[in-house]
Amino acid sequence: SNTPSALLEARDLEIAFGGVKAADGVSLTVNDGEFVAIIGPNGSGKTTFLNICTGYLKPTRGTVRLAGRDITRLQPRAIARQGIARAFQIPQLFTDHTLIDNLMLSIAARRGIWQALTPLDRPAYRDEAMDLLQLLGLETHANALTGTLPEGQRKLADITLAFALNPKLLVLDEPTSGVSSIERFEIMETLMHAARQRGLSALFVEHDMDIVEKYADRVVVWSSGTIMAEGSPAEVLKDPRVLESVVGV
Ligand code: ADP
Repeated sequence: SNTPSALLEARDLEIAFGGVKAADGVSLTVNDGEFVAIIGPNGSGKTTFLNICTGYLKPTRGTVRLAGRDITRLQPRAIARQGIARAFQIPQLFTDHTLIDNLMLSIAARRGIWQALTPLDRPAYRDEAMDLLQLLGLETHANALTGTLPEGQRKLADITLAFALNPKLLVLDEPTSGVSSIERFEIMETLMHAARQRGLSALFVEHDMDIVEKYADRVVVWSSGTIMAEGSPAEVLKDPRVLESVVGV
């Protein structure tokens, strides 16, 4: 049988800021190859959860495991090496370098500091970077300065950097915020296709319910530091409690 295999397992996470519990006993599993969307109102603790899973915040209770290994107390860099890559809302690109140079630096950094000193003359890095650019549909922009890319391409470029870490799980905080609705679908289509091709799992915060419906295998609804509902988009997005809490109808 095809029993799903747990990749990320967060158990009973707790963290508070000045008396407000941003995570209040949160448990969530992401299986191998699964795309999980997180939805919920502002301030409900979605980003806090991503911050705990990627090592930027340490919970006062609970554990995070990746492929069975406890990563709760690891630093963000170590967690990235274990296989969780986070694409930030604010792009991490060097805007005065070309896209391919940015990617080669990222690939070199993954391999260690010595390689990172002289990455740009290494054909193997260039080949790997070009493969990634093709995967994300950015090959025609390889030699563009990243600062000159239009917003949609910049978002994809940032996601390409996350792919360069060779992760098992992609963590994305509103990957399509700030771009037009048509472009949102193009970005998600490209991103999700690339993730499927590489066999990656994805955990993403998203405000656009059309995107959630189309691209999430499962949706998890946050409310005041807890999970109030969870299931397939078809089930969850018709739940009146969810509609009231998240969509505001
Ligand atoms: P969301 O991503 O759902 O909008 P957040 O995780 O950003 O929610 O925030 C959840 C709660 O925790 C909010 O009340 C927020 O003000 C608080 N919070 C988050 N991060 C911090 C922090 N580093 N310091 C203090 N309060 C924080």
